[in-house]
Parts: sequence; structure tokens; C-alpha cells
Amino acid sequence: MSHYHYLTIEQRERLDAEMRARIATLRGEIVQGLRRSTHAEAARLADTLESGDDAPVADLETALAVAALEREGAELREMLAARTRLHTPDYGVCADCAADIPYARLEVTPAATRCVGCQSRHERARGGVTPTL
Ligand SMILES: [Zn+2]
Repeated sequence: MSHYHYLTIEQRERLDAEMRARIATLRGEIVQGLRRSTHAEAARLADTLESGDDAPVADLETALAVAALEREGAELREMLAARTRLHTPDYGVCADCAADIPYARLEVTPAATRCVGCQSRHERARGGVTPTL
């Protein structure tokens, strides 16, 4: 169940700024990694990302795997999705128990989709394996 909750406009703006900064950092790391790669697609993807177009991130799979940038790619996708969610009623609401995710948690983990309790239950259920997309 979604509802507009307690986050103020100011808090949302701060989270948005935080996410923009992380997206820029991740994009930079991925571009650098792709430039080091000799994969055929890597240079082209680096150019596209550098131009500020994040659209191809979803199709980066192969180049990212070759360049060992899967973690960064997954994080970038997560961050982009979170920024899209930021101004919807779903943002900041736990996907499992529908509780408000505390602002302090969102500040540290702006892409969080679960409250701390549900997140650790979720990770235990998956054997603590880091998600790969
Ligand atoms: Zn929860």
C-alpha cells in the first residue's frame, strides 16, 4: 500500500542531490573502467555514458562483465531507478512491510527499498550474497 509520507520537500531535494552526486561518481568509474577495457563495445559505451546519457546502462551487461564493472553497473542502475522513484509515493516506503524507511537510512542508502529489518531478513534469506543483476 502506497501513501505520501513524511519526507519534506527539502529532504527529497537533499536526497536527489545525493543521488545525482553518486550517479556522477559511478558513471565516472564505469567510463574509466570501460576505457581500460579492450572489449569492442566498451569505448562506444564509455562515450555514450560520458555524454550524460544513462539509457544504455541496461544494455551494458557484456561490456561491464568483460571490464569487471558489474557491481558499479548494478549500483548505477539502482541509483537511476531510485531517482525515478523519488517523487512517487513508493519512494521511502519499505517494499516488504510498507513502513516508512527512516530518513537517516535514506541519507546513507538513497536507493534503499526496504527498512533495515526487512533488508536483513531479505539478505539472510538469500544467504547474504551480494545482488547481481
Ligand atoms: Zn520493512
